[in-house]
Amino acid sequence: METQHKAIDHSPGTCPNEGSCMFCEGGLFGCEICGGLEGGMPTHCPGESMDYDREQEVYRGEVDFKDGAWIKSASIYSPASYRIAP
Ligand SMILES: [Zn+2]
Ligand SMILES: [Zn+2]
Repeated sequence: METQHKAIDHSPGTCPNEGSCMFCEGGLFGCEICGGLEGGMPTHCPGESMDYDREQEVYRGEVDFKDGAWIKSASIYSPASYRIAP
């Protein structure tokens, strides 16, 4: 099972919002598969798109997807994990 996030491809010509794109201009990292964006991205890719609520839970550090399962933990990408980290 694929657990790596797949970065959204924003090479020239493929970007739908060229000129005003937070991915191209801000260097924002997003995943094409799960739709997660930076702080809202689980540690591993769940392999399917997350709904908005799930991404918010990941962002708040309430759930994470790791080693093939959803667990009650903070993603390494979640801002919450920075606070928990020693
Ligand atoms: Zn772009
Ligand atoms: Zn992903």
